[in-house]
Amino acid sequence: PGPAPRLTVEDLSVHYGGVCAVSNIGFTVEPGQSVGVIGANGAGKTSTLKALMGLVPRTSGRITLGGTDLSRAKARDMVRHGIGYVPEGRHVFPGLPVEKNLLLGAYARAWNKEVHQQLDEIYDLFPVLGEMRHRLAGALSGGQQQMLAMGRALMSRPRLLILDEPSMGLSPKLVGSILDVLLRLRDEGLSLLLVEQNAKLTFGVTSHCIVMENGEAAMAGSSAELSHDPRVREVYLGL
Ligand code: ATP
Repeated sequence: PGPAPRLTVEDLSVHYGGVCAVSNIGFTVEPGQSVGVIGANGAGKTSTLKALMGLVPRTSGRITLGGTDLSRAKARDMVRHGIGYVPEGRHVFPGLPVEKNLLLGAYARAWNKEVHQQLDEIYDLFPVLGEMRHRLAGALSGGQQQMLAMGRALMSRPRLLILDEPSMGLSPKLVGSILDVLLRLRDEGLSLLLVEQNAKLTFGVTSHCIVMENGEAAMAGSSAELSHDPRVREVYLGL
């Protein structure tokens, strides 16, 4: 599959009860582009991704992918349109073997031999998952579970992959492995939308970033520029 068409998000809002978590945020992800969403804890990053995926209600917002209007799309429609999602905290099925977890990621697709070809591609990308294919997912380390969550999302052959804090709780070495995989996916033409607290990972992968504050997009610009911005450094270094 070629790169994803342009994703546009306009005026997206999320409320929990009466509380506004995301307020009229807008951004675009161009075909093959990698975009980061950064900001302090509670700024609304996770809620933005979930609302985009249709996993929490959108109180307003217009979403298009190429010429397709996805403003009312649910998560499974998003997957069918080539958008993959790797949730914060991985959420693998601990009582199922690694390979079953991966196969569940292909639920939105026709069941044919392409699915097995796709499994081989995942095992090529993450050899450790191939070695552990018959183990229960709950027996994997945190880093291996992160790889499994990414592999599961890739089973639907997305053209845009959304990731929520893939580096969370991982050692610097494993963060390096995740970085390598994201660079490989990017170089293969996948569009990426990444929420990430790790500055090295964010600025290593993305070309553009949105900085969220209190549910709003406070700043947006090239990753190279933003990485030198004092306010952005404050977010990451907590000064
Ligand atoms: P973090 O990095 O800590 O996950 P975040 O930037 O992703 O933060 P969100 O998780 O989107 O931020 O949270 C935005 C706001 O919405 C916060 O004030 C949070 O407390 C609130 N919030 C998040 N989920 C819910 C929920 N299910 N019900 C009520 N309030 C929520």
